Amino acid sequence: MSEEIIKIKKPGSLRSNLEVYEETYSEFSWKKAAVELSGLPDNNGLNITYEAVDRHAESSRRNHTALRWIGADNQVKEYTYQELKEATDRFANVLAELGIQKGDVVCTLTGRIPELYITALGTMKYGAVYCPLFSIYGPEPIHQRLSKGKAKILVTTPELYQTKMAGLKNRLDHLQHILFTTDNGDDDPKIRSLSGLMEQADPTFTIPPTDPEDQALLHFTSGTTGMPKGVVHVHGAALTHYITGKYVLDFQPDDIFWCTADPGWVTGTSYGILAPLMHGIKNLVVEPEFDAALWYKTLEREKVNVWYTAPTAIRRLMRINIDVHQKYDLSALRLIHSVGEPLNPEAVRWGQKVLGLPIHDNWWQTETGGIMIANYASMPIKPGSMGKPLPGIEAAVVEVYEDEDQQKLNIINEPGKTGHLALKTGWPSMFRTYLDEESRYKKSFIGDWYLTGDLASKDEDGYFWFVGRADDIIKTAGHMVGPFEVESALMEHSAVAEAAVIGKPHPMMGELVKAFVVLKEGFEPDEELEMDLKGFVRKKLGPAISPKEFEFSDDLPKTRSGKIMRRLLRDQEMEKLKA
Ligand code: AMP
Repeated sequence: MSEEIIKIKKPGSLRSNLEVYEETYSEFSWKKAAVELSGLPDNNGLNITYEAVDRHAESSRRNHTALRWIGADNQVKEYTYQELKEATDRFANVLAELGIQKGDVVCTLTGRIPELYITALGTMKYGAVYCPLFSIYGPEPIHQRLSKGKAKILVTTPELYQTKMAGLKNRLDHLQHILFTTDNGDDDPKIRSLSGLMEQADPTFTIPPTDPEDQALLHFTSGTTGMPKGVVHVHGAALTHYITGKYVLDFQPDDIFWCTADPGWVTGTSYGILAPLMHGIKNLVVEPEFDAALWYKTLEREKVNVWYTAPTAIRRLMRINIDVHQKYDLSALRLIHSVGEPLNPEAVRWGQKVLGLPIHDNWWQTETGGIMIANYASMPIKPGSMGKPLPGIEAAVVEVYEDEDQQKLNIINEPGKTGHLALKTGWPSMFRTYLDEESRYKKSFIGDWYLTGDLASKDEDGYFWFVGRADDIIKTAGHMVGPFEVESALMEHSAVAEAAVIGKPHPMMGELVKAFVVLKEGFEPDEELEMDLKGFVRKKLGPAISPKEFEFSDDLPKTRSGKIMRRLLRDQEMEKLKA
């Protein structure tokens, strides 16, 4: 924990939606906030897509751009709120035509193409459950998810179908229809053309009564091992999407927002689709994957105001040594946010120096459905901290113990002490179950606290600091070591682009701290550099917790959403020890 504080410079006279954190936090209630959503006409409940699309299409914002899509070959498609309403109405009518029932699961297996957004919103409008699949999954993970979700409909491209699904044909009994986004003349009767069905469908649809507790979204999430968990969210989650858009992403009516995450990961759905639309602003979707020059050019040309990205992308930008300000005009950019992994202090400072804005870290997970802890637009940043809880969220660092065979917890009030990060239940986007795994779901709670599986500490000013996933913590010679602290120290060395730190089994120390290091362009691994790194970290962290072993590599294994897979590195070490 450092004492460094970055004060925020206000851009011009613009007021942020959350000027005084303490005041907003103490006055906030979800009940009061709910009036900011419209609800379905005639008191028919709450539907995510109505809040995201239809209510704007029925207002003076109907001709405002909702989605601006930039394709791989630079083609551009735009949908106003009115056009998006019509497209999603049509899709809902397609589902009716295909005999889909409320609660049935509709999946997409596509890249970031307009059909994905229309399917997602049209599905929830209809009352079915939307489940995104990452397009780079191989056949087995696709099969696992489709069958665990008992998906009835899959929207995909002929190319992805041929490469990923041709061998699965006979293993997906519950899958009733496969809708191709482009025609390819396949004669399988299960396969239909989405555009054909859309053309024939009625362009108006009346949203059926929707209970805020009706299921809306199914997200599969998995650690580095084990079967994926199906995380279920309900329509009521819309309020978290709206409130986080307001207070964390600080949306203003004319904003252009770009979330770089793929909807296959929860960030790409909650923020790549829903939160900006809840606010009626322009949501930019960029189809191609990461490319530094393309990203900088996009920020400039599209005049992006609020940018939401991830540490893995930021670290890739940090690796490239270019004078961003000389080459690009990023003057429209007002706020940069990051999520998904710990954001090293060095990355926050890099943002300030190279992009002219610090990067605002925020913390949440698939299970929470939306941002829970954040660095707000006008709140001073302590680099390396996740920030403070969202208004409406009670977060605590707790210790867990057993009492008469029951798990119990105590809240730790001592600043700086590490414990489990827990959230008081009751926020609107809290997951409602793990699909078909109710007992696993129940195990995530102690009383009315949800245990996140992360370890953290809280300082005397109320800022939360990430320590590590509970299962990534290293115990070396009796010391508990959070990998993030060691990785952040390594990142401050001028040669280091990325680092991952794990505990490797050791007969004397229990575990030995081992660092995997990716070097920046222009640096070569050798003994001298290793010695230099060792000395550098030792000086910062002291001998007890600094790495004893180093391994240089070209890249680190990462999940599809860009998280470093420490557990995989640990497993590899175990295998090497066994050999
Ligand atoms: P997922 O459900 O795949 O989004 O993963 C959620 C997990 O990612 C959290 O439980 C954390 O371990 C990690 N994570 C997400 N955001 C942050 C952050 N800002 N700082 C540290 N860890 C994070």
